[in-house]
Amino acid sequence: MLKYIKSFLELIYPEKNICQICDTYDENINDKYICNTCFSKLERIENPVCRICNKSLRHNPDLTICNECARDLRSFEKSKSLFSYKGTVKMIIHDYKYCNKTYYYKLFSYLLIEYMKENRYINFDYITAVPLHKIKQRKRGFNQSGLLAKQIGKYFNIPYIDTLKRNNNTEKQSNLSKYARQKNLQNVFDIANNKIPNLVDNADILIIDDIFTTGTTVDECSKILKKNGANRVFVLTLAR
Ligand SMILES: [Zn+2]
Ligand SMILES: [Zn+2]
Repeated sequence: MLKYIKSFLELIYPEKNICQICDTYDENINDKYICNTCFSKLERIENPVCRICNKSLRHNPDLTICNECARDLRSFEKSKSLFSYKGTVKMIIHDYKYCNKTYYYKLFSYLLIEYMKENRYINFDYITAVPLHKIKQRKRGFNQSGLLAKQIGKYFNIPYIDTLKRNNNTEKQSNLSKYARQKNLQNVFDIANNKIPNLVDNADILIIDDIFTTGTTVDECSKILKKNGANRVFVLTLAR
């Protein structure tokens, strides 16, 4: 009987045991969205890492913080990232944002949630996301980070709020040098509305973003949240 129920369920939910990445059928997938082979291709960032920004310190194992964090004061307490931004990880994040594979939000939120549970990275008053410019969001149809942040918030019962807005369409950050990135981002973010300062007053906030490149974007967002009363700001990204 159980077997029939199972095959019936597979009929209604045919995607359940099909890997979202390679489309292979595998009974072991269950609620994990991808097969073990694809899972093993997602390259985790291993210790030792910078305790502030999670940069790998493999080549400087004696340090506890990286050179960038020693040089520039970060506005966030701590930023965590799961994967190295290359190979399969880079490909699926790209497909999620630009190739209509919106369904990857399930896989990504699942991976982020598991990470947060394992690392006890869960004590936040609010969860928020790096905003897109209105026009860009309309064009893409969704905010890739907001979608993940909402799923995570729902799972842990942490209220999601849109705390920030993006003022003008900035030049694509990834094409710029670090100094140019900082200049490019000045005054780009602002609080979403005038209720935010009251809401975030003295709160610990988690910002979700897809990729941590130099950290300039999340640093700028953290700065604004703190200027508006937030106690501490933490960051979580899929990759860096
Ligand atoms: Zn696969
Ligand atoms: Zn660092």
